[in-house]
Amino acid sequence: SERTLVLVKPDGVERGLIGEVISRIERKGLRLVALEMRHVDRKLAEQHYAEHDGKPFFESLLEFITSGPVVAAVVEGPKAVAAFRQIAGGTDPVEKADAGSLRGDYGLEVQYNLVHGSDSPESAERELKLWFPDLQA
Ligand code: ATP
Repeated sequence: SERTLVLVKPDGVERGLIGEVISRIERKGLRLVALEMRHVDRKLAEQHYAEHDGKPFFESLLEFITSGPVVAAVVEGPKAVAAFRQIAGGTDPVEKADAGSLRGDYGLEVQYNLVHGSDSPESAERELKLWFPDLQA
């Protein structure tokens, strides 16, 4: 079994899609291990998105992710990382996400793509330490 970090980003919270995200995670058969509403400060945002430092959208991404509350969840199950990426759909809600995925069904713009899911088991481990340092393995 594997764990992944899921975020409902500020646009997803604002639009009332927390329940929809959680519902799809549960219906897939994944388990919620932790679930919390959080305001992201600048420091956590920079650490979370460190790999994008220097990209043209970096500053705007930090502003967006710190603009309102997010829901952070630890999600567990076989192939949890890939399973949630499938639920989320590709990064660009129109160009990449399939219909039937969260982003494909609810998103329009790449920055406002509703959710985050760790992109590999290694990223998941790094992100889970960052977001949930006290959680037992
Ligand atoms: P996430 O890491 O949030 O699950 P992802 O792994 O699908 O998304 P990344 O390429 O890691 O996508 O980009 C991280 C986030 O940065 C995206 O989810 C999106 O919100 C934002 N982003 C990516 N590309 C762009 C862009 N060209 N313009 C604006 N924002 C972008």
